[in-house]
Amino acid sequence: MKIMDHIFKIMKCLLPEFFKRHLKKIILPHLNSRYQKKYGCPVCGSTVADFKLLYDGHLNGYAQYGYIYPLYYWETFNFVKYRCPQCDASDRDRLYALFLRKKFDALDKSKKYKFIDFAPAPALSKMISSFNFIEYRSADLMMEHVDDRVDITNMPIYSDNSFDLLLCSHVLEHVENDLRAMKELYRILKPGGWGIIMVPILITLEKSHEDPAIISEADRWKYYGQHDHVRMYSKGDFIERLSAAGFKVHLYDVNYFSEEVFEYNGILSGSVLYVVEK
Ligand SMILES: [Zn+2]
Repeated sequence: MKIMDHIFKIMKCLLPEFFKRHLKKIILPHLNSRYQKKYGCPVCGSTVADFKLLYDGHLNGYAQYGYIYPLYYWETFNFVKYRCPQCDASDRDRLYALFLRKKFDALDKSKKYKFIDFAPAPALSKMISSFNFIEYRSADLMMEHVDDRVDITNMPIYSDNSFDLLLCSHVLEHVENDLRAMKELYRILKPGGWGIIMVPILITLEKSHEDPAIISEADRWKYYGQHDHVRMYSKGDFIERLSAAGFKVHLYDVNYFSEEVFEYNGILSGSVLYVVEK
């Protein structure tokens, strides 16, 4: 606000009496609402004036290949307030951070908890590994700079029941045999352990859209919304598959977090968190 105060002082000296009287009433409230820090990011802890739109690459891809569904049919996808301007965390990362901070508060801090994060998002990964009772490991098939390079459908490097907590966000829509991947996630989680598993879900679909004929990058953009996605999930189908892998599935929505918390953190009110338990 210091800069605004200076501008106000300079304008006061320069402007005629009429504008001086109206400046405070009309112009300043507008400038304040434009620049006020009215949102918060639970990943990096910053307060921000606004979140940023989805990446150009994605928006261009939808337009270029004629993605067939409106973006607002996706569950948990605030493409307008998508990225934190400070740490780049997406709205779903912010949702996970809200939940994890809540759950971490309730953990017994004298113990250590083994946490595995698949396809880690940089800022969220930094947040999770900053807790000293968390023994953090990252894993992915393609990404560099992860602790383990693994194929999620076959992870012999991890023995049965080895992790207390897991996060697997926006991975399974890239995996042909997603049920096998879910069974592997179930196998490596300890009994009593829990985790967040999320995929893009289209709320209007009755059954997941997956078709072996859709293999070109252009077609995958058109029907699944990204060049390397192999399906578009329906909500019921996703829950059914997680259950078939052995998980108990819990859904946390705005009733759990509150309207105010969702609004403040730039999360749409229809967003849903999928938490699995073994
Ligand atoms: Zn942030």
